[in-house]
Amino acid sequence: MKNSRLRLLSYIVIAYMLLAFAWWSILLFTKNKDAFQAKRELMDLRIASEIQFNGPNTALYQLLIEEERELESKYQVQEWMILGEALVFIVILIVGIYLIDRGYRKEVESARQRRNFLLSITHELKSPIASIQLILETFLKRDLNRSAVTKFSENALKETKRLYNLVNNLLLSAKLEEAYQLNMEEVDISLLVNDLISELEEKHPNATFQVNETADFPNIDGDLYGLTSVFLNLLENAIKYSKNDAHIEVNLFEQEENLYVDIADRGIGIPDKEKKMVFQKFYRVGSEDTRSTKGTGLGLYIVDQIIKAHRGSIKILDNQPQGTIMRIQLPLSILHHQGAAAFKRQVPA
Ligand code: ADP
Repeated sequence: MKNSRLRLLSYIVIAYMLLAFAWWSILLFTKNKDAFQAKRELMDLRIASEIQFNGPNTALYQLLIEEERELESKYQVQEWMILGEALVFIVILIVGIYLIDRGYRKEVESARQRRNFLLSITHELKSPIASIQLILETFLKRDLNRSAVTKFSENALKETKRLYNLVNNLLLSAKLEEAYQLNMEEVDISLLVNDLISELEEKHPNATFQVNETADFPNIDGDLYGLTSVFLNLLENAIKYSKNDAHIEVNLFEQEENLYVDIADRGIGIPDKEKKMVFQKFYRVGSEDTRSTKGTGLGLYIVDQIIKAHRGSIKILDNQPQGTIMRIQLPLSILHHQGAAAFKRQVPA
């Protein structure tokens, strides 16, 4: 509200400046013309009297004609100068309006994302805490049999895991802002992905996974903690943004000194215009379909930063007939010891 009033005020000031400048330009133009005409009339009088008294063949007559021509060309130069300056001023003003508008839009968007983030984080923290509290209260109040205790404890553990993952994402994204050090070691991506899938299969019994990998899929040098977060975020998103029973296909293959991991779902998909934006911190696609899902908008930001730190890239492709494919490319030749330095260089402070 305050911002939009400020923007309106700046537009009024700019419009006033434009009008004032246009008025001064017209005034300058007419005054210049008047001055020129007065000078020319005087000159014409002098020429007429020279012709009358001495005839048109005198040196003074030639001089006066020459002076009149000079006067005219000077006047024309001045006219162009006024026009040029007016144009430069208008261009500067238009650029100014554009910059104000762009800055304002960015500010509004980042405020919207921060508000979104705060709302979702509050919700994300509150609901597992409330569930755990309820379970503990039930334990205290009631004498439960063994199987009920196991069931409740499993639920509490699930919620604790959810909290743990959320706090992990928060910590990681805070660290990424500072100087996160890659801890390079040999990582078996295939093993990592398969382990995560087994974990997720337990947590989401309705989701099905299919892993295809080429024989001799090689290991890479990478940061296990970071890469775990990458694949966990991507797999959880694939489940979360599939409407009913998620079917997720993971393809691991090697091509031209690079490892590729495709995580394909058949979910709601990501519109083309959002494909770049989803990597921004706190960004969530604003349709109702996604709004009903839980999230903080941190996952893909973390994924993108960590993949870049490994000198890799992530691409969002459309799956057929529907859904998303997250394609991760990781170079095989990340040298040991280069990791930390490369990371600092690539992640903006
Ligand atoms: P979060 O899932 O916490 O909202 P992310 O950073 O992981 O945040 O994702 C950002 C946004 O990208 C999500 O809000 C969602 O709109 C979109 N998105 C991410 N992964 C998928 C996917 N597999 N299918 C459809 N949309 C996705």
